Amino acid sequence: SNYGRGDVFASHTPSRTDPIVYSMSPTTWLVTGANRGIGLELVRQLAAVPTNLVVATCRTPEKATALTALKTSAKGALHVVQLDVSDFDSVRALPPKLAPILGETGLDYLVSNAGIAVIDSAFTLDPDALLDVVRTNAAGPTLLAQVLLPLLERARTRKILHVSSTSGSMGSVAGMGNRVHRLVASYAVSKAALNMLAYKQKVEKPEFTVITLCPGWVQTDMGGENAVLTPEESVAGIIRVITDATTADSGKYLRHNGEEIPW
Ligand code: NDP
Repeated sequence: SNYGRGDVFASHTPSRTDPIVYSMSPTTWLVTGANRGIGLELVRQLAAVPTNLVVATCRTPEKATALTALKTSAKGALHVVQLDVSDFDSVRALPPKLAPILGETGLDYLVSNAGIAVIDSAFTLDPDALLDVVRTNAAGPTLLAQVLLPLLERARTRKILHVSSTSGSMGSVAGMGNRVHRLVASYAVSKAALNMLAYKQKVEKPEFTVITLCPGWVQTDMGGENAVLTPEESVAGIIRVITDATTADSGKYLRHNGEEIPW
C-alpha cells in the first residue's frame, strides 16, 4: 500500500519486528579477515543485500583493493575498518571506531573469520609459532567477542560465528589419512581451542547463538587450488547456517552445509 512512514509511527509503537521499522534499521555484521579468501566473499554476499550494514575489517585497509572495490557493487552499506586480531591493542581500539558507524543499532552478527595456518608437527613444532597461531585463531576471537559484547547485547540478534576447521575435531582427524591432516599440529590445537571457546561462550550467555563452523575445503590462499569448494559455494552455506541458527543450536560445531561435526 502507499501509506507513508509517518502514519505507521503514529498508529503504533515501533518495534524491531515491524517490517517498516526493520527496513529502516539494517541488519549489522562484522567480519574479520575480510580482504581476501572466505572473508572477502562473506562481505561480497552480505553487502549485496540492501538491508545489511557490513563492517569489513582487515589488517591493512590501504592495501585491501578487492575489498574496497566491493563498495561500487554493494547494495547494502559497507564500511572498511582496520583490525588486526592478533594485536590486542588493535582489538581494544575497535569499539570506539564502530560507534559512529553503528550508532544505536548495535551489532547483530560477529563473524570471526580471520585465521592463519602453519604446517608443523607435534614433536618438531616451534612453541613460539604455536603461540602465534593460538593468538590469532583463538585469543583474538576471544578478546573480540569480549570488547563487542555491549554492541551484541544492544542488537538482540546476539549471534557469533567462529570460522573453525575440521582440523580441530578429535572425532574427525583420527580417521583422516592424508599427510596435511596428520601435520598442521599448531593449527589443529588452535582450532580445538576455538571450538571450546564457542562452547564456553554458549554456556555463559544462553541468550546468545554461538556457532563454530568448518567452511569446508575452500579454494583460497589457505585452501589451495585443489580445494573442492569455491568461496561462493562455501559462503552461501555459511550465511544460511548462521542466519538460520537459533539459541537451540548454540554451541554446535557445524559444517558449511549445516551438518554436525563430531567434537
Ligand atoms: P586465507 O589465508 O585465504 O585468508 C586469511 C584471512 O585472514 C586474510 O584476510 C588474512 O589477512 C586474515 N588474517 C590473518 N591473520 C590476521 C590477523 N592477525 N588479523 C586480521 N586478519 C588476519 O584463508 P581462508 O579465507 O581460506 O580462511 C578463512 C578462515 O577459514 C580461517 O579461519 C581458516 O582457518 C578457515 N578455514 C579455511 C579452510 C579452507 O579450506 N580454505 C578450511 C578450514 C578452515 P592478511 O591478508 O592481512 O593476511
